[in-house]
Parts: sequence; C-alpha cells; structure tokens
Amino acid sequence: MDKEIKKLKQELVKYGRKIIEKGLAVGPGGNISVRKGNTVYLSPSGYSFDELTENDYVGVDLKTGKITEGSLKPTCEVSMHLGCYLTREDISVVIHTHPPLVIGLISAGVKIRAMFPDFVALVGEVPVIDYVIPAGEEIRKAVTKVIKRYDAVLLRNHGLVVVGSNLKEAFYRSEIIEDAARILIVSRIFGKPRFLNKREIEGIKNLKAEDYRKMLIKKTS
Ligand SMILES: [Zn+2]
Repeated sequence: MDKEIKKLKQELVKYGRKIIEKGLAVGPGGNISVRKGNTVYLSPSGYSFDELTENDYVGVDLKTGKITEGSLKPTCEVSMHLGCYLTREDISVVIHTHPPLVIGLISAGVKIRAMFPDFVALVGEVPVIDYVIPAGEEIRKAVTKVIKRYDAVLLRNHGLVVVGSNLKEAFYRSEIIEDAARILIVSRIFGKPRFLNKREIEGIKNLKAEDYRKMLIKKTS
C-alpha cells in the first residue's frame, strides 16, 4: 500500500475511534471519509468505528462510485459523501455523526448558536435541515445544497454532517457543536442562555478567524 494512503487510513482509524470515545456515535452509527485525488476512502457499512482497522476502509472512485479498494461494502451514505466532495473542491474530509445532545435539541426545535469564541472561529453558523430518509439521493441532495455554503449541517431527528480540509479540523468542528449543545442545555437548566451578539461575533472574526482557528488547532496538537 502506498505510504501516504496507509497514513490516511491510519488517521481514519484514529479519528473513527475518537468519535466513539467522545460519544458522537454509537454502534454502527455515523461514517467518515477522506478524499485523495479521485479516490474517496470511506468507513464500511455495518461496523462500529472502534472495530475497524486500516484495511477495513474502502476506496471508491469519486465520480463513478465504484469500489476500487477493499473487500467490505462502503457506508450506505456513500452518495452523500461523494456529493459533498463534488460540491466543494476545497474539502478533503466529511464526518457524519449522531451526537445525542445535538439531535435532542434540534429535534425539539432548539437552535444551536454561538455562545463561546471557539464556536465562531471553528464552526460559524450551522443550518438545520428537516428530516429526510437516510442513505439515498434525498439526503445527498439536501446536504449538498447546504454544504455548498456552510461547513456543517444539522439533520433533524438524525445527526450532523461536517466537512473540513483535514480530519482534525472536521473532528474538532463535530466536537465543538456537541459541546455547544451541552453548554446550551446547562445554561437553560440554570437560567436564560446568553448567545454572543453580532458585535461580539464580529470581534472574534476581526481577530482574523483563520489565525485564531490555526492557533487553536496548533495549541491542541
Ligand atoms: Zn446517520
């Protein structure tokens, strides 16, 4: 196996396990992928991330969707992943999770908005789309329409899709959105949540969000 591909698959294994560790998906829920050239490496269908080794990740041709590497079946959300890559040339990673607090809140009609600086710097705005049937063209269409303009989309009664330029960035985005849900719940229990206002959000953006984001990622690596 090409050294670079092997490294990518090792990263997929690592972040897949982190998704389970952090409670962002359970059982065979969720799926992740990385794009390398014309190939997309995806988690297989029907397995929990913590059961997977690097050889279990499946290579699929970006344009045809045909399997080019691996013996397992790719995730049933393969079409949604390919749709995201074909819509956004700038991204290399798609992470789809089922974060419980996020699903609970958005399914109850509660909006998740910026309450802390890292949310603004790493995530920004996260639109919600209504429930659609998973694993097919309907979800591909609904998700790619939003991913065109945003790095994350919330799926009511289902979960979260996040894109990024690398696994670390997309994983942090997923983690921060679940964290925002947790903070919002605590805030609601003890009082009235206070969101960052426009001026405060602009203030963070003026810090040069990109530099701030890089600093955050560097700090924690
Ligand atoms: Zn799902």
